[in-house]
Amino acid sequence: AVINFGSINIDHVYSVDHFVRPGETLASSNYQQLLGGKGANQSIALAQAGADVKHVGSIHESDASFKQTLIKNGVDCRYVRCHDVPSGHAIIQVTPSGENAIVLFGGANQTITPDTVKKALLDTGSSDWVLTQNETSCIDEVLRQAREKGLKVAFNPAPMSDNVHELPLDCVDLLIVNETEAAAITGQSSLDEIVSCFQEKWQHAEVLITLGKEGVMMIRKDEVEKVPAFKVEAVDTTAAGDTFIGYFLSAYSNHTDARQALKRGCAASALAVTRQGAAQSIPSQQEVDRFLAK
Ligand code: ADP
Repeated sequence: AVINFGSINIDHVYSVDHFVRPGETLASSNYQQLLGGKGANQSIALAQAGADVKHVGSIHESDASFKQTLIKNGVDCRYVRCHDVPSGHAIIQVTPSGENAIVLFGGANQTITPDTVKKALLDTGSSDWVLTQNETSCIDEVLRQAREKGLKVAFNPAPMSDNVHELPLDCVDLLIVNETEAAAITGQSSLDEIVSCFQEKWQHAEVLITLGKEGVMMIRKDEVEKVPAFKVEAVDTTAAGDTFIGYFLSAYSNHTDARQALKRGCAASALAVTRQGAAQSIPSQQEVDRFLAK
């Protein structure tokens, strides 16, 4: 099983002609409310990929329907708490050219406490994986307590911020980053330097760097393996990384060989970028199998 301590956000998406300017009141021509948050997206991708995934998180009690969406997607939500704190949410403006501007409020995602972590980890088996991102509170506790219990720890420090450098990163077994996050964590700018830095300082962990349409790289001590992306017509790359992580980790945690797991992650995320949206762009396992059989 995979226990994901992750954000659940409500994305409020407004279609606008241009981004709102200071002092302006701008009418929006379309409005959608969607389930989002890196945590929820990754749980959905894990569940779609066939993993047994427990989500640990929190939302406002009036938003229980979003919990139902997670459940319908196959995510075990017994550790998703309904709180009286507003749900995490994003106010997203999208222009006709597809650019976006986002205001994010952490809300209930910040109500995870050391005790939440302890309780959720009581119910784990020795072969379980723990996954977390950088959108919820108490990430340091998640990493530390998971390691103390001897569980495998996967960490996706997204969105990247300075607090990541203060975390007990020695508790991490698998670090998953995109190029921007890799550069920020290592303090290097070229990919060659980034790889050398991980090889020097991250001997304790495996490191995955997703490279957008270039694919993905896995660094394990002195070994570097690269898997190319699939060539597709990308229309919206939102949740590409989340889809990759869910599909990769579902396979890898189930003892699929790393190269095969990387390939499944690339196939699923290639399908996701051909579709609009975040959670709803995540493909099913059958779709990924069909895509790989082509
Ligand atoms: P993030 O969304 O976290 O920034 P990336 O952009 O690196 O992550 O994308 C994650 C994965 O999604 C990549 O490793 C790749 O397999 C796939 N992907 C992303 N963009 C494309 C694309 N344009 N074409 C095909 N695959 C893509």
